[in-house]
Amino acid sequence: MGVDGLSPSQLESKTVVVDGYYGHVYLDPSDIIIREFNRLTHEEHQLNEELKSLRTLPAETTDGHTVSLFINTGFSSDLGLSLSVGADGVGLYRTEVPFLSRDMFPSSTEQKIIYRQLLNAFSPRSVTMRTLDIGGDKVPDYLSVPEENPFLGWRGIRVSLDHPELFLMQVRAMMRASIGYTNLKIMLPMISHVTQVDDALDLITIAHTGLLEEGLSITMPQIGVMIEVPAAVYQTYVIAKKVNFISVGSNDLTQYLLAVDRNNSRVANLYDNFHPAVLQAFVHIVNEAHRAGVPVSICGEIAGDALAALLLLGIGFDSLSMSASKLLRIKWVIRQCSFQHAKSLVQELLTFPNAAVIRQRLETELQAIGLGGLIRIV
Ligand code: PEP
Ligand code: MG
Repeated sequence: MGVDGLSPSQLESKTVVVDGYYGHVYLDPSDIIIREFNRLTHEEHQLNEELKSLRTLPAETTDGHTVSLFINTGFSSDLGLSLSVGADGVGLYRTEVPFLSRDMFPSSTEQKIIYRQLLNAFSPRSVTMRTLDIGGDKVPDYLSVPEENPFLGWRGIRVSLDHPELFLMQVRAMMRASIGYTNLKIMLPMISHVTQVDDALDLITIAHTGLLEEGLSITMPQIGVMIEVPAAVYQTYVIAKKVNFISVGSNDLTQYLLAVDRNNSRVANLYDNFHPAVLQAFVHIVNEAHRAGVPVSICGEIAGDALAALLLLGIGFDSLSMSASKLLRIKWVIRQCSFQHAKSLVQELLTFPNAAVIRQRLETELQAIGLGGLIRIV
């Protein structure tokens, strides 16, 4: 949550308010603070109740433009909530979660069971499974290798291509899990070189052909690439031409564009998804993916930020993927505004020099469409 220098012993016998949205902790707060947080909690409950009525309605703007809304998940325990918000499917399944929570590599049978559960729960809606994205801050003990710069080191697709046997095992498990379903999509993380796409596609084809030769009837899944490394931004067109979809990983893309560690609270004030360079990158990716005739999604945290909804809509993302708890709020915002307006707003925002003014302008917009309350509850 970005709270530093607070040891558990300081919490002993204290009344504590945790503001997870802002990363603030209040120890023994005054009555005024407690009253204010009780009011906010109540408002949030009310908002959530109102939002439930949107569950079955499309995320459609007032001028008839529709965006698909997907959820991000990694835990099977998320499934209940994920299904209850009426998502169009899973836009990002972080497959590394079961790998991180065990003390050895999950077997191919274990993997297949986990993947099938998800495909079954969401069928016929699509489930985008990202291949293993360990490394950086997500290193299982059994694969731990000390690195000076883990975020610039052995991560994501780099690990998979150095260990094709593990990659093959994973994509085979996904494909075996998909027998009888047609909703599996596979997504490749941390691509920085076009050759990595080629190599991964070759391995996926080998896995698929092998399974067909075993007599199994398996539909070749759609394949996508995450754009989350600056080098890939400038290769979006070439990459998009090779695959079926593109998805922007804005958490990593922001960290790499701004050279700010996404987990270091000392520089947290410099990490900002609304930095003009990040917005320029989004625009470039969307335009290039569309030029290649491929749909483009965004699955970083910004996709679930109500303040960003108009921005991402106006940039032209075809789908947004976010934590299930955010989905109905985003749908609410999208249903209040017009696509034309969001597009012209983006043209204006692109001329702004820093994140603070971009945020300010977006806040004014939310207020103008009567959603000012969301700014506190995002
Ligand atoms: C991202 O980088 O934006 C992303 C969605 O992936 P992760 O947060 O798992 O790195
Ligand atoms: Mg990422």
